[in-house]
Amino acid sequence: MEVVISEFMDEAAVDALRQRFAVTYDAELVDRRSELLERMVTAPALIVRNRTQVNAELLVASPKLRVVGRLGVGLDNIDVAACQARGIEVIPATGANALAVAEYVIAMAMVLLRGAYLSTALITAGDWPRARLSEGRETAGKVLGIVGFGGIGRLTSVMARALGMQTIAYDPLLPADAPAWNETGTGRRTLDALLAEADVVSLHVPLTDATRNLIDAVRIASMKPGAVLINTARGGIVDEEALADALRSGHLGGAALDVFKHEPLPTGSSLTGVPNLILTPHIGGVTRESNEGVSTLIAQKVATYLLA
Ligand code: NAD
Repeated sequence: MEVVISEFMDEAAVDALRQRFAVTYDAELVDRRSELLERMVTAPALIVRNRTQVNAELLVASPKLRVVGRLGVGLDNIDVAACQARGIEVIPATGANALAVAEYVIAMAMVLLRGAYLSTALITAGDWPRARLSEGRETAGKVLGIVGFGGIGRLTSVMARALGMQTIAYDPLLPADAPAWNETGTGRRTLDALLAEADVVSLHVPLTDATRNLIDAVRIASMKPGAVLINTARGGIVDEEALADALRSGHLGGAALDVFKHEPLPTGSSLTGVPNLILTPHIGGVTRESNEGVSTLIAQKVATYLLA
């Protein structure tokens, strides 16, 4: 049986699959679409990250497909309904990269609130901006507003509370009597109330029709002056131009974006040269440890499914 892996995966997990299956592993295959479609003609299993589009075109080209393993969590690159209709199992690596994302959020919150850590070039150039960089804020006592209170949102709230932050969250799909609120000591809010109250807003919703452009110009304007926005969820949830304007005007104190409407970010985008903005290339959930964990989990689950 063939397993096609079209994006990067931990080598040890790929080797484990090779013990039992005929594996095609090419981390760049995602960028050679026609070759990928050819490979899928006979394969019952496909393993992807977030870039391979598992859409109608790919499903038509994959008559033998039985299972799709996702090396991560978001399923917006996979037509899950079409897979279900064909009886194709979709297996995400739920939870296996949550710690990596939560640590990213805490680190960005601390760096952006303090606002003093990006001074290396100034210091080595002989500048000494001590007065200007003595205005940073402490993390303890600040309010973290979490939009989407699932696995990653909850883990982030636990870590934030350990630092002395207060946590609130917006998740209309999670009932008011769900144990997660009490277990994590997190207050339930409407989105409007959260945006007005939070010093740090962190996004943890999936990209759906309901969350597309959720944080638009009006909502950014309603955030607390000086607040910090962190998006590790998906591009398309935040209006990038409105965010750039809010950072330039000083309404927001800082932002960190790990995900973008278009990835890679096109050169000359509205985010170019914007102050107090940290950009990373969709690595919030990817560390050595999480890559190993995610890959091992998906290799095991796909193998179990194929051999059942
Ligand atoms: P999850 O499914 O455990 O949690 C998502 C939460 O969002 C759920 O509690 C759900 O009720 C809530 N939600 C859904 N629609 C909503 C809406 N319209 N308004 C408010 N809340 C809504 O998922 P998770 O594991 O916590 O991951 C969250 C997202 O983070 C993923 O969908 C993925 O897109 C993203 N992610 C990014 C990276 C990265 O590397 N940057 C890594 C992992 C996950």
